[in-house]
Amino acid sequence: MSEIGLGSQSYMKQTEGGRVLVKVLWTGGFDSTYRMVELSRYDVVVQPYYLSDKHRHSEKFELDAISEITDDIEKYPGTKSKILPLIRRQISDLKPDKEILSAYKRLLDISYIGPQYIWLAEFAKSINGLELCIEMLDCQSGATYCIRREGELKKINEGGLVYWILNEEKSSRDILTVFGSLHFPIIELSKVDMLEGYKRMGFYETMKKTWFCHTPVRGEPCGVCNPCKHLIKEGLSFRMPPAGMERYKTEIHYNNAGWFKYWKKIRYRIYGY
Ligand SMILES: [Zn+2]
Repeated sequence: MSEIGLGSQSYMKQTEGGRVLVKVLWTGGFDSTYRMVELSRYDVVVQPYYLSDKHRHSEKFELDAISEITDDIEKYPGTKSKILPLIRRQISDLKPDKEILSAYKRLLDISYIGPQYIWLAEFAKSINGLELCIEMLDCQSGATYCIRREGELKKINEGGLVYWILNEEKSSRDILTVFGSLHFPIIELSKVDMLEGYKRMGFYETMKKTWFCHTPVRGEPCGVCNPCKHLIKEGLSFRMPPAGMERYKTEIHYNNAGWFKYWKKIRYRIYGY
């Protein structure tokens, strides 16, 4: 296997039998599945990765979604890509990196970004050019906001395969330390853009199999974890079952009440969502 390009910013990728190898962090969710579907239209080899965390309540649902969606993509007559077997890694096996941790803590002063980006950065150091499917979000916090504030994105187009990377010369050292090894294929797309894309590519039914909730309740999306809330706010409430929608509305109604914040902590401990 030969490699095209060198270093963390290596554009694409390694080749396998002359085909481009694309490495995707696949959670089984709406965003990373979109990329898997998009890549199916290209004559490439796709290596999906999944990071396991024993504390995550949604792992079984995510892995079931990945398995069903892989079947859908492989059976689709227009599919040109080859999907390699999923590689699973345990978060607990990742090597802590002091430099990443320090940079992450400094970035927190600019914007809240979830702690998962610490182990993601640790993982990405060993998987050169790993694609991270974070979407365009119009809000003043979170990873996308932080990347745009502290860095400059550079668009790469390799034979029609498009993704963005951080421009090393115009990005802060901290943002490069945490996000510099990653490629961002959908950072210019919203959920509604992707929904249209799923329809256009003939994968609307497959889209319904994606799993997005972090804390499912009786096997259904909870409506109140961050991914559930994002999904509803971004116009995809049709994916939410009635019970999840009710929880969401209650949460929005009482969210500023002190007692409700207290209740949420108790609820999480008792019911796990
Ligand atoms: Zn949820």
